[in-house]
Amino acid sequence: MTRSFADRHIGPDAGALEHILAAVGVGSLEDLAGRAVPASILDQSAGNGLDALPPALSEHEALNELAALAHSNTVATSMIGLGYYDTLTPPVLVRNLLENPAWYTAYTPYQPEISQGRLEALLNFQTMVSDLTGMAVANASMLDEATAAAEAMTLLRRANRASKSPRLLVDTDLFPQTRTVLYTRAEPLGIEIVEADLSGGVLPEGEFFGVLVQVPGASGRIVDWAPVFAAAHERGALVAAGADLLAMTLITSPGEQGADVCFGTTQRFGVPLGFGGPHAGYLAVRDAHARQLPGRLVGVSVDADGDRAYRLALQTREQHIRREKATSNICTAQVLLAIVAAMYASYHGADGLRAIARRVHRHAEQLATGLGESVVHERFFDTVLVQVPGGAEAVVAKAKGRGINLRLVDADHVAVACDEATTDEHVAIVLDSFGADGVPAATELPSIETRTSQYLTHPAFTRYHTETAMLRYLRQLSDKDIALDRSMIPLGSCTMKLNATAEMEPITWPGFSRLHPYAPIEDVPGMLRVIEDLQGWLSAITGYDRVSLQPNAGSQGEYAGLLAIRRYHLDRGDTHRDTCLIPSSAHGTNAASAAMAGLRVEVVKCRENGDVDLDDLRAKIADHADRLACIMITYPSTHGVYEQEVAELCALVHDAGGQVYVDGANLNALVGLARPGRFGGDVSHLNLHKTFCIPHGGGGPGVGPVAVREHLAKYLPGNPLEAGSHAVSAAEHGSASILPITWAYIRMMGADGLRRATLTAIASANYIARRLDPHFPVLYTGENGMVAHECILDLREITRRTGVTVDDVAKRLADYGFHAPTMSFPVAGTLMVEPTESENLEEIDAFIDAMIAIKAEIDQVASGVWPVDDNPLRGAPHTAASLVGDWPHPYTRETAVYPRGLSSARAKVWPSVRRIDGAYGDRNLLCSCPPLEAYGE
Ligand SMILES: *Cc1c(COP(=O)(O)O)cnc(C)c1O
Repeated sequence: MTRSFADRHIGPDAGALEHILAAVGVGSLEDLAGRAVPASILDQSAGNGLDALPPALSEHEALNELAALAHSNTVATSMIGLGYYDTLTPPVLVRNLLENPAWYTAYTPYQPEISQGRLEALLNFQTMVSDLTGMAVANASMLDEATAAAEAMTLLRRANRASKSPRLLVDTDLFPQTRTVLYTRAEPLGIEIVEADLSGGVLPEGEFFGVLVQVPGASGRIVDWAPVFAAAHERGALVAAGADLLAMTLITSPGEQGADVCFGTTQRFGVPLGFGGPHAGYLAVRDAHARQLPGRLVGVSVDADGDRAYRLALQTREQHIRREKATSNICTAQVLLAIVAAMYASYHGADGLRAIARRVHRHAEQLATGLGESVVHERFFDTVLVQVPGGAEAVVAKAKGRGINLRLVDADHVAVACDEATTDEHVAIVLDSFGADGVPAATELPSIETRTSQYLTHPAFTRYHTETAMLRYLRQLSDKDIALDRSMIPLGSCTMKLNATAEMEPITWPGFSRLHPYAPIEDVPGMLRVIEDLQGWLSAITGYDRVSLQPNAGSQGEYAGLLAIRRYHLDRGDTHRDTCLIPSSAHGTNAASAAMAGLRVEVVKCRENGDVDLDDLRAKIADHADRLACIMITYPSTHGVYEQEVAELCALVHDAGGQVYVDGANLNALVGLARPGRFGGDVSHLNLHKTFCIPHGGGGPGVGPVAVREHLAKYLPGNPLEAGSHAVSAAEHGSASILPITWAYIRMMGADGLRRATLTAIASANYIARRLDPHFPVLYTGENGMVAHECILDLREITRRTGVTVDDVAKRLADYGFHAPTMSFPVAGTLMVEPTESENLEEIDAFIDAMIAIKAEIDQVASGVWPVDDNPLRGAPHTAASLVGDWPHPYTRETAVYPRGLSSARAKVWPSVRRIDGAYGDRNLLCSCPPLEAYGE
């Protein structure tokens, strides 16, 4: 029998599966379904919605279909601009970074000892952003420019404690999509946006907590904002400035002009347009506001041997700690794309970037000179706004006929944006489309180059200008990390499954990657087909009626879904419904998203067995009856269990007039088995980067579609170019260019493959639970003693008895070549393990053997053979360097690095640093590349 894609995606073969099922004590996968999943929600294999999916294709057939879709798109020369510019990704970065599983299959670097490669790359990103913007500290990426602007807005409000004003003053020359997202985010928080043309340097009357501008503006105009910044500060307002990083190589940065915050995108640094994404947004602040930064921040610290080491600083996973008081809900960000942008800067260096910027500007100057009087602004970088009374449409049509897309601003204006890919020929065609006579030989416009300060002087940006050096740098960094190309990553709640090559290939095809998000609709039929197919397939899988692919992470899907609920109640006149019930076990983003959507969070207790306490739920519903907006549950729960009473729980909330939000992060336990849209959910978000094979990229990109039942459909986020559309991202379809990954996955798995994948994931999780329970007790199980697709190992009693912590076990796993499971979520002092369907039995057994061997080591500590503060667990991870020289420890070097339980069949992983001292780094906060001298040490 020929093997299908599903046979290659799913790890255990028939023989292995038999072994797994026998250990779990069930006869077949369908038997398992009946035992694990509550009968009240379980779909039979026919009528589970998957009959709506097309039959499975092989890898080559699916790639052929996708190639046809890509070819049906028109890859025009894009001169539309508006924050999206064509860019020439250096091939060395395409093949060795963007298309390299060592980079794209990694997880967010919460285990810093085996993540030094991507942490260093992210530190380069932060350094690049802070240098170019003139700010002290930049974070490790935002989701896009518009959401970064929204985060800047809320940061200004938090940081400006002196101001009681709810008003934000916004310049009118902002990208329209940025403006729309600002309005979406401002309204539920009671922030009042006041728009005015600030280019004259005069602020409208009254108090503002902040002022927000952009340079260059949407019209291309460069304004000297220094007087506005000064006036704002005098008025007690803080200032945020959007800044184009390529322009910053030539003009004075907002930081140098006094801005408090900078935001923007790094797309044009080598990240393909991708019909809107994914790209890395950025956010940077003055020193004083460093602790207000949302998202991840990489910092420098030291390891146990006193050597320099990187790790996430300060607010890492702050949502889990601060919940609704978190600075933001952002969790998955845009790590992979941030690293591409940083490497682009490393490859070109300051001089190279400046040369690119000058070429871009020279083309814009040629256009402006050729168009003469009709050019609206005197000072511009890359975008020229042209007045053509009554003739704008004709000009755009003429250029379109010759393969170039321009921006139609209105009936009388056209904007033309030059970029790295613009050629002299493009300039000639554009001039001709305007009816100008030929390309001017010389331009005599005044220089825009006002920047005098240096940037990108660190070795990270001077050492890798040749392809050989860059190739080796990328390899050297990725060799420090554990990604899925080295071992299983058993992170509960994160679903680190296979990202098949056939799924990944299409994303760098020009037919998908070189489309501007605001390209004319007739250019993108293939892209829209992928989008529509996916919307239909995901609706069928989830049982909902409508799906929006706009949110670019799970957190954004949560936010969009909660906004829909809020607007639904408001439209019905239920203005008092502002309370969101959230079980205590929920992911931290849930509470953070609710707060952003203007909802009050009330926590519902969990019972001893981990289930939502329905008695407490009844009490909370009674307490908040007329204020109840919704409940937000995760199903199966973050405790890894299918709660029996989920249908009843949903009914209780519905009866009280509330809506039910089902967090779909755990959909890998439901696909083909049960549909949240049918068992009581009104809205869910999915994580395509968990259940549907988009790789985690080291902490992003992600796609977090929001799915709703019909009554909420009209509240889904709209087109960001339309004011008031409640868009949550800068592009209508979010990170569209990675949607072919999910499309290919569903297309190749087919209905049977998807159901089999889910059941195999459940079988493997139960196998691990059964085998590890005698060593590390499994904390929660469902009615039949079964877990769902993940299980929580309880180490609290072990820690109490022996002093060995979850940290010790997590770090020790690196010596065995494994990435740690999820630590202390959702329960402190536990590890949550999720194998997914993609891991084969050998790998699962190797992990289990490592865990059992670690338990034996813990027993040695317990029996006093090794002291609690000096044993292989506390000493972990062990580097090669730690073996040479004195060895004062009571365990051998061999035990340190080649312990029993480490399969001889596995390639040895050598962590590059010892255990990292996080607190030291937080006390001595350093979030950009250490200065040059430090490299001599
Ligand atoms: C991953 C996860 C989220 C957040 O999703 P992001 O894509 O990281 O923003 C929310 N809820 C649960 C239960 C999750 O596991």
